[in-house]
Amino acid sequence: MYDYLIVGAGLFGSVFAQIMNEHGKRCLVIEKRGHPGGNIYSKEEDSIKIHCYGAHIFHTDREEVWRYVNRFTAFNHYRNSPLACCKGTLYNLPFNMNTFNKLWNVNTPGEARRKIREQCDKYKHITNPSNLEEQALTLCGDDIYYLFIKEYTEKQWGRPANELPASVIKRIPLRFTYDNNYFDDPFQGIPLHGYNALINNLLKGIEVRTETDYFHARNYFNSLARKTLFTGCIDTYFECRLGKLAWRSLAFEHIRLTDTDNYQGNAVVNYNDRETPYTRIIEHKHFEFGKQPFTIITKEYPVAHTSSEEPFYPVNDEKNTQRANAYKELAAAYPETLFGGRLGQYAYLDMDDTIAAAISLAEKEL
Ligand code: FAD
Ligand code: UDP
Repeated sequence: MYDYLIVGAGLFGSVFAQIMNEHGKRCLVIEKRGHPGGNIYSKEEDSIKIHCYGAHIFHTDREEVWRYVNRFTAFNHYRNSPLACCKGTLYNLPFNMNTFNKLWNVNTPGEARRKIREQCDKYKHITNPSNLEEQALTLCGDDIYYLFIKEYTEKQWGRPANELPASVIKRIPLRFTYDNNYFDDPFQGIPLHGYNALINNLLKGIEVRTETDYFHARNYFNSLARKTLFTGCIDTYFECRLGKLAWRSLAFEHIRLTDTDNYQGNAVVNYNDRETPYTRIIEHKHFEFGKQPFTIITKEYPVAHTSSEEPFYPVNDEKNTQRANAYKELAAAYPETLFGGRLGQYAYLDMDDTIAAAISLAEKEL
């Protein structure tokens, strides 16, 4: 008999299992994929670690999360400074003085602020933005919105920007310094020996069964443990009885290039125009300052979520948010099952949010 059955060996399940195991609880982790790690898993090919499920850059402003994660891995000094390729021209992200300088030929923060203010003025009648388009236009005006945001966003989400929640765009910072560091957080980097090492260290000494789907024998698995932590999709746990939750998915095209050792000179380049079918190209070696004589890139294509695709981004519109809340209310009636993680909470959680939430759930249990 186990104390906890943990469904899903992603970051949430692994952190929860680590803490419970440390406190003497017996845990069994089951994972339907052929490997642990969930979406942070990477596959090593000739010493280049390929972020198989999208680029992952660790960043946090939470000291307790940084302290916790550093018990299991050290980090390198990678800082994310993505580029945006708009109709053949490259601009720096996040939107900062380098971007404004290239876009408008302005040199000072005063000039840039004035330019943005002028452009936003037209939208000052929108006092309470009701969708992403209104939110973006009131924050940064026409030039930035139409060049960098509208087409990228519609490609990413497969829907018109004026039908998307304003909250999606709140994450894009405007910065009036010549600083290309995407994240404001004081703690950043890529695990020195990769994300797999982090996960393996978290799961050390814990029984993990991969290629094991909870739904293939849920009664049997439930009978093995006193309590269950479920980190899969919350709607599937309840057999979608309140309707399906919508997700956006991604398709990845990994390409090994032997005719160059440096394809794009940067780890992340976004493609912001509608005509390019992918949203970004990742060149993995740059996350680790790799010196290999070849390179591996990944093109990331946004796609609709079907039963054969992985669910990646929750579609947090009103209908789906309400539905997710209804599932959470239903879950409260099953105290022997805990729900957590991106899929279990139907929430956009960065890795540090995921770790913080798993620590907090574990502490509640102890
Ligand atoms: P998952 O990693 O999805 O793990 C859940 C696991 O449960 C999966 O392995 C799944 O196979 C398993 N599972 C599901 N159902 C079952 C079942 N029935 N039986 C058995 N197992 C099951 N965060 C950052 O901080 N920085 C970034 O740069 C960043 N980039 C991202 C890029 C993309 C494209 C995406 C999608 C996310 C990104 N994130 C990033 C977020 C990060 O991936 C998450 O915070 C984290 O991986 C969530 O972990 P999780 O355990 O909740 O979910
Ligand atoms: N976004 C955009 N242009 C960009 C980058 C991002 O319009 O060049 C928008 C887009 O709507 C996206 C959101 O900002 O869904 C969040 O992007 P981010 O890269 O922070 O998130 P990720 O896709 O990596 O989770």
